[in-house]
Amino acid sequence: MSAALHELGVADLGRALAAGELSSVELTTHFLARLDAHRGLGAVLASDAEAALAQARAADARRAAGEAGALLGVPIAHKDIFVTEGLPTSAGSKMLEGYRSPFDATVVRRLAEAGTVTLAKLNCDEFAMGSSNENSAWGPVRNPWDTSRVPGGSSGGSAAAVAARLVPAATGTDTGGSIRQPASFSGITGIKPTYGTCSRYGMVAFASSLDQAGPMARSAADCALLLSAMSGFDPLDATSAERPAPDFHAQMLAPRPGAGAGRPLQGLRIGLPREFFPAALAADVDGAVRAALAELEKLGATLVDVSLPRTELSIPVYYIIAPAEASSNLSRFDGVRYGHRAAQYKDLLDMYKKSRSEGFGPEVKRRIMIGTYVLSHGYYDAYYLQAQKLRRMIADDFQRCFTQCDVIAGPVAPSVAWKLGAQENDPVAAYLADIFTLPASLAGLPGMSVPAGFGEVGMPVGLQLIGNYFQEGALLHAAHAFQQATDWHRRVPAGY
Ligand code: GLN
Repeated sequence: MSAALHELGVADLGRALAAGELSSVELTTHFLARLDAHRGLGAVLASDAEAALAQARAADARRAAGEAGALLGVPIAHKDIFVTEGLPTSAGSKMLEGYRSPFDATVVRRLAEAGTVTLAKLNCDEFAMGSSNENSAWGPVRNPWDTSRVPGGSSGGSAAAVAARLVPAATGTDTGGSIRQPASFSGITGIKPTYGTCSRYGMVAFASSLDQAGPMARSAADCALLLSAMSGFDPLDATSAERPAPDFHAQMLAPRPGAGAGRPLQGLRIGLPREFFPAALAADVDGAVRAALAELEKLGATLVDVSLPRTELSIPVYYIIAPAEASSNLSRFDGVRYGHRAAQYKDLLDMYKKSRSEGFGPEVKRRIMIGTYVLSHGYYDAYYLQAQKLRRMIADDFQRCFTQCDVIAGPVAPSVAWKLGAQENDPVAAYLADIFTLPASLAGLPGMSVPAGFGEVGMPVGLQLIGNYFQEGALLHAAHAFQQATDWHRRVPAGY
């Protein structure tokens, strides 16, 4: 069985472990070797084979003692934005080079309690700021579908590792699209749940009112299993939703009332915001998304026209609010409490200046400067306050849509993955490409990317599904039905 182990997803691995067909130690050994063999992708920032094997042995012992659990013994990897006790956490930044956390992030802890084995920490854009993983201090990640292209970002290492079958699944975080967009660019499935679903405790903060964790895996079913384990109320996160942790897998499988054989989505109204299909949308993305929508119709869904009139405004709104929060969050990296400290300095002020100048990369500095500017006396009302008002209007627009439809669908990004270096001197081009993921982030709504086909250059295209608050079940249900009828999510890049 060993040669094909990486062909199995989380759910299948769980079943094989439960049936005693393989052990977690075997699996862990196999995936560690794959991660090693494909170091060239740039996805891995840290790993500890001995520690992973010890976790695998512990999981096998729990199984032997009669414990069950879909994730018990399944190896995964974490975006390097989650702090881990056992492995260093850099958040893709020189600022945190060699940093070791004294505790695990809640998401990491919960997944470990469910019995997952941590294979590695995965590359990401510095402090999760970016859309291509090129802002990592540790070099870019390559897209396994075409190694001259980016995997998307900021969870680029997670996306590339899952797409190349180096890990069965990985965690990611999404502030303005960082789960959905790399999932789309790399041909995998990812879900950002409703803000407040997964604890932010132990997630290196970027923009606290937007940051949310979620799983990145091959299928909706695998994402559902992981999300159930990751989520739930956490008193250590002040914005954690105080509601019982749902069984997302059960929600995914629950049949819709009135659904018949071959029409699992009978009665589901899918809203298509006209602003999500602008003339500037790449023709190949448009084509793949429309074909996926036709498939959803065949499965019983009805498509309805809706409008999210402030879609374009979500870009300036996000790029005011996110940097504002980032400038505040990143003030803690002062060379004293955390992070890099300059080797030589004249006095305290000079120490702050040098430490921060040396520790942060150019995109992070840009965000700190923008954030400081929009929060400064005299500009606060014109920028930050206006952005907050518009944020509320964007959320209200969604609520109007949800009177006409159950879920919203559209593209994840305006194009397929671009070439490495293509946007090097044009940060605004990358910001503009976030147009379809930012609205749901600003509203705090759940959003998902589902593999929906391939574009002209053979790169994957994702279909985005957005639901109302805490309607992850509806997204997972629709995505699962789609994946039962299609095989886009089963495609593997050549050579992996
Ligand atoms: N691309 C967006 C940004 O650069 C989103 C990043 C994210 O979701 N972490 O801010």
